[in-house]
Amino acid sequence: MLVQSERNSRSHEVYGALSTGTRELYDEARYLQKADLESLMARACVIREARWGRTVTYSRKAFVPLTNMCRDTCAYCTFVKHPDHPDANIMSPEQVLATARKGEAQGCKELLFSLGEKPELRYERARAALSLLGYDSMTDYLADMCALVLEETTMLPHVNAGTLSDEELEKLRPVSASMGMMLETISRRLTQKGEAHYACPDKVPLQRLRTLERAGERKVPFTTGLLIGIGETWEERIEALHAINESHKRHGHIQEVIIQNFQTKPDIAMAHHKEPSLEDMLRTIAAARLILSPDISLQAPPNLSARHIAYLDAGINDWGGISPVTIDFINPQHVWPQIDVLAESCKSAGFALKERLPIYPDYLKRGSAFLSPQLQDRVAAMAARDGLAQEQRHLMQGE
Ligand code: SF4
Repeated sequence: MLVQSERNSRSHEVYGALSTGTRELYDEARYLQKADLESLMARACVIREARWGRTVTYSRKAFVPLTNMCRDTCAYCTFVKHPDHPDANIMSPEQVLATARKGEAQGCKELLFSLGEKPELRYERARAALSLLGYDSMTDYLADMCALVLEETTMLPHVNAGTLSDEELEKLRPVSASMGMMLETISRRLTQKGEAHYACPDKVPLQRLRTLERAGERKVPFTTGLLIGIGETWEERIEALHAINESHKRHGHIQEVIIQNFQTKPDIAMAHHKEPSLEDMLRTIAAARLILSPDISLQAPPNLSARHIAYLDAGINDWGGISPVTIDFINPQHVWPQIDVLAESCKSAGFALKERLPIYPDYLKRGSAFLSPQLQDRVAAMAARDGLAQEQRHLMQGE
């Protein structure tokens, strides 16, 4: 654990009845919650700078919301549409390709496939819509759409399809440069009635941890992260960060961790739920940087807080995907910052903004261990010597 020597020994009296591991975690969580924020952030920045320097990266992407139907009903989600809703849909191959081509024309390298979880297992209408496209499984359709994009464009699929079985990971690995699934939280308590993940079979933490493990066993460069402020306790956040880090220690596959803040919206069940404060975000980001292995990239999205530049002082080194062509379908009310403006504000803060590919340089270096053989030449041709994107385009559409 992180702060063995710095813990208040009295906390051992308080948690004396707990197992050693749990007690250490509580002690560490308490320390991270109470420690002086500036000194925590300073320590996080030392770790960031030793591993990532003064470069902050982003991925230039286009977003394909392959389906907005989902068998889960997260209390903070505006993306999901019930199959009876007129806007419920599955994108056709033509629509997928049109988005990919639009992204390609604007210099995007990543095509982010994001979709609701297995709607066909719950809704007849979703099954029927999928069947019209000639499929009975959303994962099969997704795998074919990734293959189509690889065949027809220069874009690299990054797949964000939620919990996945061994078989599903095997189908998607050959046709994606990387994959992701937010762990979000480790709190099973949040699956109870009235909580954020009630009636969400894919948000049972054990299921998500299993997907993290399966991805590790298959050497998939993987993105995960926490959703902050959905009802979890501080201790649960720290526990979740450790769970991610332990999976990475076993398999070496976690290329990035996102610390994402809950955002309230008028049309969600959690409309009156409080958003995390900037201080809470900064403390969580710093704690993440201190807990996670330094080789895991730490990311916070720039469009979900007007004060995102402050995140740099807490230890992040990446902004995640930014799209010059599609909106953030998950948080449609939050526009992406213009990339050249972001580059300027990074510069003022003493950082160089650089474009990366969806697969990080470390994983590229490991060749076939972490990247399907059929993607290797293509990705290598897109990478500069440092493993970041060879073409660095910082201008937004129309500029
Ligand atoms: S957040 Fe994801 S899993 Fe939850 S309802 Fe929305 S689309 Fe489904």
